[in-house]
Amino acid sequence: MSHVIRSEVTVAKLAEHGIDSVDAFCEKCGNSWRAPIHILPPATTLAKIAALMACPKCGGRNVDVTPASREERPTGH
Ligand SMILES: [Zn+2]
Repeated sequence: MSHVIRSEVTVAKLAEHGIDSVDAFCEKCGNSWRAPIHILPPATTLAKIAALMACPKCGGRNVDVTPASREERPTGH
C-alpha cells in the first residue's frame, strides 16, 4: 500500500488489507482524526471519502485522508 491511487482505492480494497478506518487531516486548521470507513458502501473510493468529509473542528472541506494502518501484525503465511 505504498502507492495509493485515491480514485481507485475502494473501501472493499482497503478491507482486504484489514483497514477499516482512515486518518483524516484538515488542511485548513491542521486537525486530525480517525474515521471509520467500514460503514460506507464497499465501492466508495478514497477520493470520494475525502470529498464527503468535513472537519469536525472548523468545518473545513479540504480534508486529506490516508488509510489508517492498524497495529502491525503478521499476515500469516
Ligand atoms: Zn479544520
